Amino acid sequence: MDLTTYDTIQNFIGGSFHPPRSGNYIDNINPATGEIMGKIPDSNGRDIDEAVAAAKRAFPEWSVTSAEKRFYILNRIAELIEEQLEALALAETHDNGKPLWLSKRVDIPRASANFRFFATGIMHFAAESHIMEDKAVNYTLRQPIGIVGCISPWNLPLYLFTWKIAPALAAGNCVIAKPSEVTPVTAYLLSLICKEAGLPDGVLNIVHGTGTVTGEAIVKHPDIKAVSFTGSTRAGERIASLAAPKFKKLSLELGGKNPNIIFSDCDWEKMMKTTIQSSFSNQGEICLCGSRILIEESIYEKFKKEFVERTKELIVGDPLDENSKQGAIVSKVHYEKILRCIDTAKQEGGKVLCGGNAVKGKGRCANGYFIGPTIIEGLGPNCQTNQEEIFGPVVTLQSFRTEEEALQLANVTSYGLAATIWTQDISKANRVAAKVESGIIWVNCWLLRDLRTPFGGMKNSGVGREGGWEALRFFTEAKNVCVQL
Ligand code: NAD
Repeated sequence: MDLTTYDTIQNFIGGSFHPPRSGNYIDNINPATGEIMGKIPDSNGRDIDEAVAAAKRAFPEWSVTSAEKRFYILNRIAELIEEQLEALALAETHDNGKPLWLSKRVDIPRASANFRFFATGIMHFAAESHIMEDKAVNYTLRQPIGIVGCISPWNLPLYLFTWKIAPALAAGNCVIAKPSEVTPVTAYLLSLICKEAGLPDGVLNIVHGTGTVTGEAIVKHPDIKAVSFTGSTRAGERIASLAAPKFKKLSLELGGKNPNIIFSDCDWEKMMKTTIQSSFSNQGEICLCGSRILIEESIYEKFKKEFVERTKELIVGDPLDENSKQGAIVSKVHYEKILRCIDTAKQEGGKVLCGGNAVKGKGRCANGYFIGPTIIEGLGPNCQTNQEEIFGPVVTLQSFRTEEEALQLANVTSYGLAATIWTQDISKANRVAAKVESGIIWVNCWLLRDLRTPFGGMKNSGVGREGGWEALRFFTEAKNVCVQL
């Protein structure tokens, strides 16, 4: 298994590697250098048809394979990911632009953890029974759905890809998966790992290509009964419009515009250190990053001064350099979008306190896509900058006087993914947590993840929850059997 060569990657269908039916490929760019690092299949509906045919052949056996055997294979995949950490982390960094230390510490270990978590989870997964006194016993079967689609974004490539695939496979489904065309490499390397781990042919099929062609072919395919999607709200809306008339099961994990609510009684040092991370980790390209920082008025100036000073210390540069805290923005298109958003913020009257510009990379990174961590103040809650997701290293500061005002500001957007609350008053924390319209709330911490907890957003941030039993329930069909006594 060679995980160091990925200049021309192929689709993984029926357990073997195939070029796209169209014969066309898309350039894959390393965002830290701006250079072409390889080619990826530009697949279409015919590739998806072949993948579905392979999945159909595999499903009868996989769906009745014992939980113990499924555990064994999925756990082996987890072990191989762990063993191949260095190669996978390097590939992720070349493809995405994130610092290598981050790929090594977070992305790849979490991809392995996802497989291990659902491998062991399926051994404990059970369904309910309901007894009607002396009349009847109901028991619920949780059967695999059949063939399911998994579509993932570019920000945490292998991490989010495996977060969907692992529960889908553990539950006994066959999967047609598509990673983002912007960061396809580790998904391709995962196909090599799955083969090595002994996953039967056709159980997992990984097809590469664009969202509008390959992705929509997955969503529209009549034999794909459920779709789990993570990505932008705009694409989620389109997918929902295609899937709803076909009554497909849908899980949508979408965008966010997350508030960070900071009260004056917080643990200052912990809050400051974590707020730097929740603002700029992974170049701000995490759906859970807090992009609207709401600060109690009495500490606003103190917060601003220290936050700006500490942000200016973050080194932006070559993701292979251990000292770089910020790597490259994932693509030229996204880099230009973020710079446009910063211009919009200025036009709206925002004052840029730090960053706000492209940063010129050094040496091999001279043509890379780098943006300095950016802090903006002076904007109202309803302007575009405070309403629309930027998904980059850009945060705004707003102040509030009362708890009610903090809640109003927090809830004013159409999104509802995550929120962070900083206070040492536990009653206040609980009160505010109950009223913030977000699916995920962190109190005095950020990104502390227990994989058993429900994960997902409210409002325009999504439909459904991933994680733990939620994911295994999503990837199974509940069938009630009522037996009269
Ligand atoms: P995107 O919506 O452009 O693409 C995501 C995936 O969907 C890609 O694989 C893409 O090819 C595919 N796709 C795009 N249009 C499609 C269509 N019409 N039909 C089928 N598939 C389609 O998102 P992105 O730019 O890759 O990722 C960034 C977005 O993802 C941000 O909005 C971010 O908030 C969101 N995100 C959400 C979560 C979460 O858990 N809620 C996690 C990470 C990222």
